[in-house]
Amino acid sequence: MAVNLEKFQSPGKGNGLRVLKDTCVGVTVYSSLPYAYTVCIKHKKKPVCDYCLLRKEKLLRCSQCKVARYCAALCQKKAWQDHKRECICLKSIFPSVPTDSVRLVAKIIFKMLQQSDSASEELYSIFDLQSHVDKVSEEIKEGLGHLTTALQHFLKNEVQDLSQLPSGFQALEYFGKVICNSFTISDGEMQDIGVGLYPSMSLLNHSCDPNCVIVFEGRRLLLRTVKEISKREELTISYIDVKIPTEERQNQLFRQYSFTCECHGCLLRDKDEDMLAGNKQSTKDVKDLVSRLEELQSQNNTEEALRLCEDLINSSQLPDKNIHKLRILEIAMDSCIMLGQWEKALHFGKRSLEPYNLYYSNYHPVRAVQFMKIGKLQNYQRIFPEALKTLKQAFEIMKVTHGRDHSLTQQLVELLNDCEANLKAM
Ligand SMILES: [Zn+2]
Ligand SMILES: [Zn+2]
Ligand SMILES: [Zn+2]
Repeated sequence: MAVNLEKFQSPGKGNGLRVLKDTCVGVTVYSSLPYAYTVCIKHKKKPVCDYCLLRKEKLLRCSQCKVARYCAALCQKKAWQDHKRECICLKSIFPSVPTDSVRLVAKIIFKMLQQSDSASEELYSIFDLQSHVDKVSEEIKEGLGHLTTALQHFLKNEVQDLSQLPSGFQALEYFGKVICNSFTISDGEMQDIGVGLYPSMSLLNHSCDPNCVIVFEGRRLLLRTVKEISKREELTISYIDVKIPTEERQNQLFRQYSFTCECHGCLLRDKDEDMLAGNKQSTKDVKDLVSRLEELQSQNNTEEALRLCEDLINSSQLPDKNIHKLRILEIAMDSCIMLGQWEKALHFGKRSLEPYNLYYSNYHPVRAVQFMKIGKLQNYQRIFPEALKTLKQAFEIMKVTHGRDHSLTQQLVELLNDCEANLKAM
């Protein structure tokens, strides 16, 4: 699959990945299944299948461990090879469940013990991955130590003796590898559903204004170009959300990945002023409220969350482009959707579009999904001309970020057709 890519030494950054020919916008330059992956255990909304990561209303529970869930018997059967040892471990600690990183490291260990080749390692292997454990603070090291203890407890019935593992295996190091190399697997609505390792993709360096994005189709990762890239140019992705002011972005990158970003965006700091526009104290108050709202969301207290959002939106002087205010608008829209208050959902959602255009200015999957959500709301409320315009905007971005073959793009095309038919029938 990686016919047009190669590993190279990127000046000042160590390993990197580059293309071997001129590449246009909107091309899948690489696609891969994970080396190992797991569903997010605390995944809030509708549950997903442990194997294919697709969402289903009803899932079958593994009768042994009662933790793993599958959409159908076929998925369960296909998952068994990778699940059978995990199943014994899950059963042994039931009703507790391991954290996502403990479960993922256990899956890596089981995969290593199988000693089978994985196509995900064709450019870079699980052994090559950096862990940076020598650079992390004592505090983080202590945290990694706790994870190692939890892992040993989890594995006690299946891997009693770590000498069964490849020589030199150190659990601590593998937790380090997971922290700096795992990819959060998101679904079509950009909700986090799982976490996985795709070793060859760990060669990708970060930029706050990258030339590629990663999207997922189930558990399959797709690396897509969002800029024209010339022969031998380095490919980059953003490791973190770009809608964060420079200083915070840099802190986050340093904490998690042990480097300081020196990209163009970080040097210019050109969007910081917009992101924090408005009064400083109000910004701080709103930021504090966001944590409270996320807590309410996790408790499914949607009415209360919406009430607080509306109070704030009505009283706050902050502009919508202030990222904390914007977060309130997003939570307000999602809460309205959950409560079936479509008109209000559309009102809050529409206000987010301009700031989204500002912060996700290049082709960005998050912007495509937001436009699609709003177009859907307009279509549902029979505002067809506007719906058509918004859905077309979503399509222009999504055909680049996801590609025409992606299932989400196909859903969008269906919506567009539906909207056009409605418009004709008026
Ligand atoms: Zn499935
Ligand atoms: Zn099981
Ligand atoms: Zn940067």
